[in-house]
Amino acid sequence: MLATLIYRSRLNQTLDPSQLADLVQQASLRNAQVQVTGILLFDGEYFLQVLEGSLASVNAAYARISQDTRHGNVVELLRDFAPCRRFVDMGMVLFDLRVMQPSLVLRKILRFGTLKYKLASNDRVYKFIRNFIASPNGNGGVRNTSPEQWQFTIKTSPFASEAPLFAEQPCQFAFQPIIEPLRGNISSLEALIRGPNGGSPQEYFSTIAPNKLHEADLASKGWALAMARRLGIGNHKVAINLLPMSLVKIPGAVEILLNHITRNQLNPGQIIVEVTEDEVISGYEEFTWAIRQLRAAGIALAIDDFGSGFAGLSLLAKFQPDKLKIDRTIVTDIHLHGPKQAIVKAIIDCCAELQITVVAEGVEKIEEWCWLEAVGIQRFQGFLFARPMLNGVSAINWPQRLTRKD
Ligand code: C2E
Ligand code: MN
Ligand code: MN
Repeated sequence: MLATLIYRSRLNQTLDPSQLADLVQQASLRNAQVQVTGILLFDGEYFLQVLEGSLASVNAAYARISQDTRHGNVVELLRDFAPCRRFVDMGMVLFDLRVMQPSLVLRKILRFGTLKYKLASNDRVYKFIRNFIASPNGNGGVRNTSPEQWQFTIKTSPFASEAPLFAEQPCQFAFQPIIEPLRGNISSLEALIRGPNGGSPQEYFSTIAPNKLHEADLASKGWALAMARRLGIGNHKVAINLLPMSLVKIPGAVEILLNHITRNQLNPGQIIVEVTEDEVISGYEEFTWAIRQLRAAGIALAIDDFGSGFAGLSLLAKFQPDKLKIDRTIVTDIHLHGPKQAIVKAIIDCCAELQITVVAEGVEKIEEWCWLEAVGIQRFQGFLFARPMLNGVSAINWPQRLTRKD
């Protein structure tokens, strides 16, 4: 099967046209041995390369490029399969846009197309090439800071690192901060349910009879808030997770929640309820009603796990929450992945238009955070900054920009 891969990267050094030609020749020879062919465009700073060959050879070539220190910001833009090569089997053809006319480049590229493939101007790969040529600065490349520009400092949080449990507590909670790293601000603490032995939410809920699930879910929020108080929550915010149907199936759910809030001397404005699309569909009318009540009481709403398959555009179309949390599956390796980048940019645009605050969850790598900061996200949750801590809040890892010593 013939695989196609397109990536964009940024050159870490300066190269004059002859050096570039040498470099490409070396790479072409290596690629020829494994029958990887394609097109390479260079605009003086960014590369766009189309690789064609067997899946294994294309992957091997791409792995080598990703490791090559001359390339920075290597971002995968397209992976696809094709019935045959788009470009004539003649190695890697270089187009140096510093010395070639864009219109000539495009004409040549169309001419390079194999007759068999009938490369046409509506071909997706060709459109990537055309777009790269038309828009300077690497065609959508984000100028993120490099990880080396940051240094992390661990600071204890203003909360207790451990709070004593209540004698009758059936479940426990791990708390994880959501922070604004560059402001040094803790936006909220998320309460994540744990079983009596520290087991996961799934494990805990599996011990509960299905007909008691929503009741237990709602009741557990009383414990979450009581623990938050014991941790010294002060004026900070607490995010709690609720199955949407817990708000629907339990009569007076919002009142019960409000009681938990006031009993723990908290204010509804400090509470954020996080929901996913999981069950919403089955009780849409009642859910809408519950949400209205939450909003009327001053409680904020967040759509959790946005983009995970459970929380998607249909939920956002029905409810515009205060916050939208981008799921970890999209955040992971975002700095390497063009399609994820395009999705996150669209989410950011959409949320900016609707005045919804975006939170990125599951941030584990400094590169992920650098990219997300660069596109304008300010709130983050993830192991990079702080792990959830059972009945407590861990110290927080705050990034600081290193001042350059010139
Ligand atoms: P969630 O609300 O999306 O919570 C975030 C989950 O991601 C937590 O998993 C947290 O431990 C994990 N996490 C945070 N940062 C990172 C990271 O950087 N890397 C990785 N790999 N994971 C990270 P947890 O605690 O296992 O919770 C799983 C899910 O269970 C939660 O996802 C939430 O949907 C649900 N849940 C938690 N507490 C409750 C609750 O009280 N009621 C209900 N109905 N669901 C709950
Ligand atoms: Mn959550
Ligand atoms: Mn989530």
